[in-house]
Amino acid sequence: MRQPMISLALLGLLAATTGQAQTASPAGRIETAAKLRDAALADNKAWALLSDLTDTVGPRLAASEAEARGRVWAKTALQKLGFVNIREEAFPMTAWERGTASASIVGSNHALAITALGTSGATPKGGLTAPVSCFDNLAAMRAAPVSEVKGRIVFIDHRMTITQDGSSYGVNGGVRRIGPALAAQKGAAAVMIRSLATDYHRNPHTGSTGFPAGVTPIPAVALALPDAELLARRCAAGPVTVQLISTPVSKPGQSANVSAEIPGTVPGEIVVLGGHLDSWDLGHGVFDDGAGVAITMAAAAAIKSHVDRTGQAPRRTIRIVLWGAEEFGVIGGRAYAAAHAAENIVLAGESDAGADRIYNVGSRVAETGLPLFGEIGALLAPLGVQPDSSNKSGGGADVGPLAALGAGVLDLGQDMTRYFDVHHTPDDTLDKVDRKQLDQNVAAWTAAIWLAATDDRPLRTK
Ligand SMILES: [Zn+2]
Repeated sequence: MRQPMISLALLGLLAATTGQAQTASPAGRIETAAKLRDAALADNKAWALLSDLTDTVGPRLAASEAEARGRVWAKTALQKLGFVNIREEAFPMTAWERGTASASIVGSNHALAITALGTSGATPKGGLTAPVSCFDNLAAMRAAPVSEVKGRIVFIDHRMTITQDGSSYGVNGGVRRIGPALAAQKGAAAVMIRSLATDYHRNPHTGSTGFPAGVTPIPAVALALPDAELLARRCAAGPVTVQLISTPVSKPGQSANVSAEIPGTVPGEIVVLGGHLDSWDLGHGVFDDGAGVAITMAAAAAIKSHVDRTGQAPRRTIRIVLWGAEEFGVIGGRAYAAAHAAENIVLAGESDAGADRIYNVGSRVAETGLPLFGEIGALLAPLGVQPDSSNKSGGGADVGPLAALGAGVLDLGQDMTRYFDVHHTPDDTLDKVDRKQLDQNVAAWTAAIWLAATDDRPLRTK
């Protein structure tokens, strides 16, 4: 860590001789980052923002009136915190509303705990009753002949496991993302999946699925784990018939991204941080992703107060972006990257993995940016954060499209051990948040963003 600090001090002298008097002194930036980090640990701004957003606006389904109220909340809060260049940028999308869903095993007393998947289609009026074809996993359904799928309700009992980094969701998520479309292409009447989940409450976990052009959306629902295991046992015992009702509606709509800035002293270099404003409709949108919104707003606000107090502006512009419609397939993230492709966004990171503590820090930056991540790693070590030096991190779903255009990636990896217990369920509520862990997130984001925004080493990968 010593070597980069010395070269930074030299860079500071160079910056001073080129007349950037307002820029935060590079020599003091490490000390300032440590102070900001420690102050954030003792603050509780993220909790105040998170409880205000989720208590007053509540769930914020993409393209809904509630999501629009979330944007009004965000712009008002950003203005109160003193940010400038507050913008709202709209984009079109298909609005999907859940309706009601119910299912029962014919000839039994069992009502199954289900919820519809985003973008899925509706059952005929009065519902549909069909024999069930059961598959242990997505691969088995994919390999099945059309005769085992056509006209049937397809049940895929694909399991995910608990992982600290949440990677099981990515590896096993295909069952929800493409399972219904694959079954539809084989003529399935409807699809039921085991929720992508790790809890055994009778809460089905929603989430979006997708149907490619030319494939008509069919009804697709997720079962709570106890109900999925019941259905699997009944399947193993003999033929099963299910009656299913699901009444979602799709129509043209729109969502928007909200952004605001702390201007830097050198025009044109931008560091982006944020979370997504939309949520699923079942819970209160706290872990996913009110927490990410509140954490990154609180971090940027801590930096803003420092700038106001000291007159020391960061070298790079710090821009907070609150994306819309992440849950329906990163629609806001894609729209944002397309609209800002010409800008020099040097680094971007999203907080979108709940409210539990950050345990590692990763990057995907040009080699010239690696010393910065050495500094960030050293500043975050006292928070219990380990460096991930692979330099292959993702940085969050909404950051993906920016990274694909060359933006460097900051990835503050959160502990997701319990994330998939409440993810996309009615249980995504404020009482699940551990306030100390929430503050640790803010401390890490504050220090990392301050270091990145007061630095001048190239970070973009192309
Ligand atoms: Zn999310």
